[in-house]
Amino acid sequence: MKRVIVTGGAGFIGAHLVDGLIELGIEVHVLDNLSTGRSERVNPRAILHISDIRSAEAKEIITHVKPDALFHLAAQADVQHSVADPNYDMDVNVHGTVNILQASREADVKKFIFASTSGVYGNLEKEVLTEQDPVQPISFYGLSKITAEQYIALYERFYGLSYTILRFANVYGPGQTVKGEGGVIAIFMKQLADNLSLPINGDGEQTRDFVYVKDVVQALIAAMTQGTGNILHVSTETKTSINNLVKSLRTLHIKHKSTDLQVFHRPTKAGDIKHSCLSNAKTRNKLNWQPQYPIELGLEETYLQWGEFS
Ligand code: NAD
Repeated sequence: MKRVIVTGGAGFIGAHLVDGLIELGIEVHVLDNLSTGRSERVNPRAILHISDIRSAEAKEIITHVKPDALFHLAAQADVQHSVADPNYDMDVNVHGTVNILQASREADVKKFIFASTSGVYGNLEKEVLTEQDPVQPISFYGLSKITAEQYIALYERFYGLSYTILRFANVYGPGQTVKGEGGVIAIFMKQLADNLSLPINGDGEQTRDFVYVKDVVQALIAAMTQGTGNILHVSTETKTSINNLVKSLRTLHIKHKSTDLQVFHRPTKAGDIKHSCLSNAKTRNKLNWQPQYPIELGLEETYLQWGEFS
């Protein structure tokens, strides 16, 4: 693949992906309206088009650039915001995706790669989820993402547009904002940087499958040429409770700043999932990929690089 478009390439995951693609010598175009993304985060060797994925202009950019592959990461990615404003969430995540799909079809894109989420499963009571498990979203965000997935599958069926759908677990890393999905590590990093206590929702025994952004980038890049027609998890298959996360951060904070940290508890949020862990067996097989960063390693890198990105 010589030329690609990354929608949402000014956002947290998108900016890391753009860096990875540029390193491979690929011509990268970013399509982003900068609603949560920042132009300073876009690699200067990429071409930034400031445009809304729902617009006719975005469609024209895609048909003009004619990319070999398109990574669709632009989204309203904030669960709480989707509950507060379902209309906007649906408009960006469903209408926006259909607009990008239609343009990809017209531009003869060879591969459409979509950033989906573990949020599609809702509160499904299962130790480790597989891609075959039923989807039961408990937020409008989860609902809009699964709807977008279904449009993608039908575009393949009707028009032969090849795709890979990647359902990310909780992504973390340098440059993440405190808004958006799975932002607990970003929230904790910001509180630590500001010398403030860490807020824990509920009892802190809820668990998440935290995957480091560099591992996510490698899965996205692998999906350019592999995993066609599949829905795949991008996860570590490891459960980490918020209390254990705090423990690891305490160790890091003492190691690097010789200071202990403080926590406080607050109520659980609406739409929050209690436990989440995704199997990555299928992804290892289809993408020839596996996560390289255990949580301690990714956390330390995030901790040390936090200031560079804020
Ligand atoms: P982010 O908010 O940092 O990035 C989203 C980007 O999309 C931003 O740059 C924003 O400006 C852009 N954007 C939003 N609406 C747009 C519009 N209408 N037109 C053009 N650009 C628009 O979020 P992120 O954490 O980098 O997430 C990237 C993708 O990964 C999203 O699709 C999200 O749903 C998905 N995802 C993220 C996580 C996570 O843990 N961060 C987990 C699962 C899935």
